[in-house]
Amino acid sequence: MSNATPSIAIVGYGSQGRAHALNLRDSGFQVVVGLRPGGPTERQAKADGFTVRTPADAVADADLVAVLTPDMVQKQLYADVLAPHMKQGACLLFAHGLNVHFDMIAPRADLDVVLVAPKGPGALVRREYEIGRGVPCIYAVHQDPTGNAEQLALTYAAGLGGARANIIRTTFKEETETDLFGEQAVLCGGASSLVQAGFETLVEAGYQPEIAYYEVLHELKLIVDLFYEGGITRMLEFVSETAQYGDFVSGPRVIDASVKARMKDVLTDIQNGTFTRNWQAEYDAGLPNYRKFQQADKDHPIEHVGKQLRAKMTWLGEQTGAQAGAPAQPQSEAA
Ligand code: NAD
Ligand code: MG
Repeated sequence: MSNATPSIAIVGYGSQGRAHALNLRDSGFQVVVGLRPGGPTERQAKADGFTVRTPADAVADADLVAVLTPDMVQKQLYADVLAPHMKQGACLLFAHGLNVHFDMIAPRADLDVVLVAPKGPGALVRREYEIGRGVPCIYAVHQDPTGNAEQLALTYAAGLGGARANIIRTTFKEETETDLFGEQAVLCGGASSLVQAGFETLVEAGYQPEIAYYEVLHELKLIVDLFYEGGITRMLEFVSETAQYGDFVSGPRVIDASVKARMKDVLTDIQNGTFTRNWQAEYDAGLPNYRKFQQADKDHPIEHVGKQLRAKMTWLGEQTGAQAGAPAQPQSEAA
């Protein structure tokens, strides 16, 4: 296969799938979307003007197949659909290395196997592309029987708009472990638990929940925007001397060495496969704990007060910010 303009099949049309399909099409690639007939995102893909085929049909003609279904269905998808139907010498692309790194998928030897992981949610991958920017991408090569694997990964990442920001080479191991750690310890798990704990502390001390909400959740956006623009240095330039002094003396009291020790425990569980084994078992059991945790987050008092306060921010429509272009609530499809 030449690496001029590979034909691309995108399997899955959720957060990443939709963004990749739209960006790659706008970058001049031929894109077909593979979805189960009658599945939840088929209508969206058709409304966006894509040819939608069954996964088996979509991948049969493709030079490159991007696997953008939930991680926990990829093993079965590979066994049932990809391994039997992909062309000899085609390229199998993942947006997260989990299944390959933890040996849940052992790809056919004739396939190039690569990873292109945008460092952002799908809606942002699309929005940044549309406004002429990009989300940084990291890429890796797991196997390269054709000699084209790296070039294909770079071509795909550029098609996503990633080259406008930055493209960095990694390994499946590094991407998988750092991605899981980031979302668990800092981005999703760490940040949401920090905000909830701060809110609870203020409300339990008798302060108004509305004011607690503004202090620990709403204002966080301002701070994170400053981090994004110029690092912690820039945040410090923008806050008062009093806030800086408080940051210096109280930040390390809250996030102390014991927190870092527990971060290391989290990382160890990721590295030795414990996290992935537990997640697979939870998924196979039909997500009983996952649903309980999800409900507890939704029922937290900060969500109730936040809903009322955000109703007054008329500019926060359904289609603003990181949500623009996002699909409806992605569903998990456990057995
Ligand atoms: P998602 O849950 O948003 O969407 C999944 C899509 O796959 C949906 O269209 C769904 O209908 C479809 N699907 C589910 N089971 C299927 C099956 N058996 N056959 C065919 N289609 C099926 O998923 P996502 O969050 O975009 O994640 C996709 C991949 O991208 C994962 O590997 C994930 O780790 C990776 N990733 C996600 C993000 C993110 O921000 N969401 C960021 C980087 C990487
Ligand atoms: Mg991630």
